Amino acid sequence: MRDFYTGLIKLLLAAVFLVAAPAKALAEKIVVDAGHGGSDPGAIGVNGLYEKNVNYNIAQKLRDLLAGMGYDVVLTRKADEYISLADRVAMTDEAKPSLFVSVHANSHPNANVSGAMVLYYDKDYPQDSYPASDAMTALTPESKKLAELVQQSIVKQTGFADKGLLPSAAYVIRMGQVPSILVETAFLSNSGDAARLANDTVRQQLAQAVANGIAAYLPLTKAAFSDISRHWAQSAITRLKEKGLVEGSGGRFEPDKPMTRAEWLTIADRLFHFSDKQQTKSGLSVQVAAQATSSTVTAQVYKDLPQTHWSYKTMQAAIGLGYVGGYEDGSIRPDQPVTRAEVAVLLERMTGAISDAPWKAAADFKDVPASYWAAGSIYRLKQKGIMEGITEATFSPGKSMTRAEMAAMIDRYVAKTAP
Ligand SMILES: [Zn+2]
Repeated sequence: MRDFYTGLIKLLLAAVFLVAAPAKALAEKIVVDAGHGGSDPGAIGVNGLYEKNVNYNIAQKLRDLLAGMGYDVVLTRKADEYISLADRVAMTDEAKPSLFVSVHANSHPNANVSGAMVLYYDKDYPQDSYPASDAMTALTPESKKLAELVQQSIVKQTGFADKGLLPSAAYVIRMGQVPSILVETAFLSNSGDAARLANDTVRQQLAQAVANGIAAYLPLTKAAFSDISRHWAQSAITRLKEKGLVEGSGGRFEPDKPMTRAEWLTIADRLFHFSDKQQTKSGLSVQVAAQATSSTVTAQVYKDLPQTHWSYKTMQAAIGLGYVGGYEDGSIRPDQPVTRAEVAVLLERMTGAISDAPWKAAADFKDVPASYWAAGSIYRLKQKGIMEGITEATFSPGKSMTRAEMAAMIDRYVAKTAP
């Protein structure tokens, strides 16, 4: 059994560099499209205003406001130039934003018509000649919600008349891949609206209102780390960060890097506080005294664990408690990736759950026969829902674990054991 612990349990760990990064805003990306441009002036106002210029100016203001709020903004049109509708959509597809907003001004044969409206594609109002992309069809509820929030914001904050939402098959809001709206700020064909659209303060108000509507739809959440946005383990990593169980370096978590032994032990120590235990029990825990020699009083010397190693104290505590052991060549390998089998055994040991509890195959991993050294731990943790196989039939015990996989496992463990 001693060889088992020393040789096998080496292991585990997690992340932990010293820099605790402040929560950072996720870079949610937004495409802002200034309608018309170049040879296409759009509507021409009763006061001579060109729609393309009004759109461009408001789009620029909107870009600045959104950027100031922390969004990542991409403009389709960056000058007074002609860009086809298909190219605008292609640019948006390429940018892969969270949403698309096109800025326009309206026109109507009846000069009395005035006010603001927001267009979006609605699958319940299809137009046979203008089929939408599958994505836009599916995104109807999202586009509608975005349209509602922006329309409400404009009406409340600018005083333009409320012309409501308009289901529409306009190209740029029908062919894309993300929630999309087209804002018709006001009517250039109406003298009152046109005069207001000529006013820089009103344009600023419009831009602010659209920005606020977008922010209401897509609030900037605080990401625990800058590199976990949309990662499959994002929510687990975020929960562990909030509990102080994981840290990153320079604001990054590096979720897909293999977790090292020292990192795993550091996280485990945050979970189980074994280094406190070891210190408070006058340097020699009862448990250790029972099964190990008095090696805990004096630090063990390993050639690859100098006192300057960031994990020195934690590693020494783990060594003292018998959680990890060195290798025959005199190394302890703190920076070596931890394997899944090692994680399982060490997790059980640290929780004090190691036992002869029966573990008969609720899960039959063909690569973990009953004779495998870590079989008991692996099957017990599997039965508790804490560790999963790589597939239904394989566990891959010798494979390393990524930091994200470790976070997901610890997150499950914390959830299952919470009072
Ligand atoms: Zn237009």
